[in-house]
Amino acid sequence: MVFNVEMRSRTSKRVQTNWAGNQRWKPTAVVRPATTPSVAVQVAKATDAGQRVKAIGAGHSFTAAATTTGTLLVLDRMTAVESVDREKYQVTVQAGITLSALNEALAEVGLAMPNLGDIAYQTISGAIATATHGTGLGLGNLATTVIGMELVSSTGEMIWCDTENNPELLRVARVGIGSLGVVTKVKLQCVPAFNLEVAETVEVLDDLLDGFFEHAESNDHFEFFWMPGARRAHVKRNNRTELPAQPPSKFEYFRDKYVAENLAFGTVCRVGRRYPAAVPKIAKIITSGVSERALIDRSDRVFASPRLVKFYEMEYGLPYEHLPDAFRAVRDFISTLDIPILFPIECRVSAADDIPLSTAQGRRSAWIAVHMYQGTDYEEYFRGVERTLKPFLARPHWGKLHFQNHHQLEKLYPEWSAFQDVRQKLDPTGTFRNDYTDRVLGRL
Ligand SMILES: Cc1cc2nc3c(=O)[nH]c(=O)nc-3n(C[C@H](O)[C@H](O)[C@H](O)COP(=O)(O)OP(=O)(O)OC[C@H]3O[C@@H](n4cnc5c(N)ncnc54)[C@H](O)[C@@H]3O)c2cc1C
Repeated sequence: MVFNVEMRSRTSKRVQTNWAGNQRWKPTAVVRPATTPSVAVQVAKATDAGQRVKAIGAGHSFTAAATTTGTLLVLDRMTAVESVDREKYQVTVQAGITLSALNEALAEVGLAMPNLGDIAYQTISGAIATATHGTGLGLGNLATTVIGMELVSSTGEMIWCDTENNPELLRVARVGIGSLGVVTKVKLQCVPAFNLEVAETVEVLDDLLDGFFEHAESNDHFEFFWMPGARRAHVKRNNRTELPAQPPSKFEYFRDKYVAENLAFGTVCRVGRRYPAAVPKIAKIITSGVSERALIDRSDRVFASPRLVKFYEMEYGLPYEHLPDAFRAVRDFISTLDIPILFPIECRVSAADDIPLSTAQGRRSAWIAVHMYQGTDYEEYFRGVERTLKPFLARPHWGKLHFQNHHQLEKLYPEWSAFQDVRQKLDPTGTFRNDYTDRVLGRL
């Protein structure tokens, strides 16, 4: 069961934090509107008073994307599934619904999201705002499933856009990093519910990189995890199947997902943080402990897992064709580091899309994600990986740590000005600004 403690605690004016605990901020007010008109009143009031507003989802961004010194809007009372069209596989939901609640609601009517990331704690609006993605070369990020959207602009105007009404606004606003308005409702193009056949293996990293394109192109969902210093990597190939689910037993799920991936791993991380010299040995133990698995389960249960061990993360998307060279360059860089790294590097793929600020805009993408245990110093490692990936025209995930600013970022996005034009129209007063958008999008 996915239980979101963070959202429930955002009801007071006290200092707020994100999931990873690396962002802290104190809003002047925390408001929990229950309807779109109430959102509109809050936003118009703030704009008239020259103050800022920021909607937060589940607080799972590592960046300061959801922070504000003004009014924080928490949409945890706006979580309804408003309508379902079973024939067209479409649903309209309020923006504050979490992915886990959405997945359950979809399953009840025989539908599913075509793809998901590896957790389901996020809200739908938070996930699309940063172009949250899963893995699968034929599948876009979550924002590409949005075919209609209601949002509130800085004047308090409530605007609906879809593929017929204001399609350009829809195209742009799907990935808005919270800077275009408060999203209150989204219409999603889903798919009929499906099962996935899971094959988890351990393979030699060099072989994986040599055969990377073949692996990525011959599986619906392909990804691998490599522990720095190891010869082999943990590989996941998930493919659609008509076969009935053969899920793990409750005991097996608890053993694999809670004990091995979280409790034991968390203990190992704490030991590693206290005794950095022991990390290479610990990393070997972690790699050798990874076992091969095969099962069939409902798609959303395969995609998302519980995450109890807290960490910091940076993830870069680069043109798919560059992955093997880029990954080897990162491996070479890491071999020069004298820092203990206990988290594996994750590699995924995704389809191109046409959303101006989507990380995969205009190009099939491969992803390289690096992580460090909460409370450990990540900067030298992350900055070095960022430097290494720059020549590959890599774009940072908007919700994960990075060190770039808008001067650098605008060169990576051919449709940067299309986004800024919409921003100028919807938020001329800068109501939805915060320090993060000032850095990555610039001030209007
Ligand atoms: C453990 C973990 C695993 C993760 N796994 C993945 C993964 O597999 N793939 C991936 O791509 N990312 C992943 N992420 C990153 C995460 O999906 C994104 O950072 C996502 O944006 C978080 O969603 P959220 O609901 O917590 O939004 P928040 O972090 O709360 O907010 C993100 C942005 O959305 C804006 N926003 C939220 N609600 C609204 C609204 N109603 N209207 C307008 N703007 C809004 C906020 O202002 C902010 O700018 C992971 C993060 C963690 C902590």
